[in-house]
Amino acid sequence: MLPLAAQLRARIEADGPISVEAWMNACLADPLHGYYMTRDPLGRAGDFTTAPEISQMFGELLGLWAGVVWQQIGAPSKMHFVEIGPGRGTLMKDALRALRGVSGVMDAFDVHMVETSPTLTKAQQKSLKDTTCNVTWHTDLATVPQGPVIILANEFLDALPIRQYIQSDGGWYERVVTIDDDQFAFGMGERIDDTIIPEKFKTSPDGSIYEDAPIVQATVQSIAGRVVSNGGAALIVDYGYAENALGETLQALSKHAYVDPLGKPGEHDLTTHVNFADVKAHAEAAGAGVWGSIEQGAFLERLGIAARAASLLANATMDQAQDIATARRRLVDPDAMGRLFKAIALTPPDSAAPPAFEAVRWA
Ligand code: SAH
Repeated sequence: MLPLAAQLRARIEADGPISVEAWMNACLADPLHGYYMTRDPLGRAGDFTTAPEISQMFGELLGLWAGVVWQQIGAPSKMHFVEIGPGRGTLMKDALRALRGVSGVMDAFDVHMVETSPTLTKAQQKSLKDTTCNVTWHTDLATVPQGPVIILANEFLDALPIRQYIQSDGGWYERVVTIDDDQFAFGMGERIDDTIIPEKFKTSPDGSIYEDAPIVQATVQSIAGRVVSNGGAALIVDYGYAENALGETLQALSKHAYVDPLGKPGEHDLTTHVNFADVKAHAEAAGAGVWGSIEQGAFLERLGIAARAASLLANATMDQAQDIATARRRLVDPDAMGRLFKAIALTPPDSAAPPAFEAVRWA
């Protein structure tokens, strides 16, 4: 048996079923066997592909977004440019290349990569080896120095553990992982205090599942708190839903195919869909102005992906031209990433609209 499976089995046998949150945490972040700790999951040879890995246009446009935000706040002489959960460092590499065209940015930006995975930290060091900016690695946003800040997080929140609650017979119970018939299986744990469940879902049919994400909420609050007290902006892009909803979204990916989230712990990527209504509520609670969410397709169109693609096409071979067109469609088409993926921006409460969010002034 795989070592993490044996460890989790022993833990459940000794102490009883564990929450979905504890299961996800062990599978993703166990220091020895956690999925992200031990491997580079990205790209064709890995388990999943993300927007920056699909096309350089994504990181370039996010870089220019950051450049405009920097100008909007008066081009401070020092700016912390932070990415949380930066994967292979591809987004940051493409962002910094695009920013070379913005006068003064390279002198002002100090880059901070917030990453817990030793394997991916190495990949990021390789991606950024030629940059002229100072780059510092952190395992937590808290150690990034105070001062004006721009924070990017693409496909980061979906990788954080969540809790699930299940409705049964008029009550709500924690959804847990147990052992049944010698296999890991979902089960029902302790009854919870249902003040956590939004009023409109309280009397849902038996078997309904509500997802709650205390770790995501705390993360959003610390990002928002940083932006409000230091000035600047944050941009969060991820897949998820814009309005609060019932339903379970836990999924496991292996080699680009969906697999059992309870199979092979630590070997598969586990994620959930982000509840953007909840992100918005917690960012506002931390005092931030919240812009969006808007769909990724609209977001990239407003940032000028058409013009960027056209300028890449001008110098492309036939094969490259095909790749650029395909990548652009994957990023913006509603039936690809364009609709499911969403962007939300956080600013101090009195700031101007960040680029691409002008039409969704927060109220
Ligand atoms: N943003 C990248 C990678 C997304 S995968 C891209 O778009 O390609 C999720 C990333 O978050 C990985 O780099 C993973 O190691 C990192 N990560 C997971 N949990 C984290 C945590 N608690 N703090 C910081 N990074 C984390």
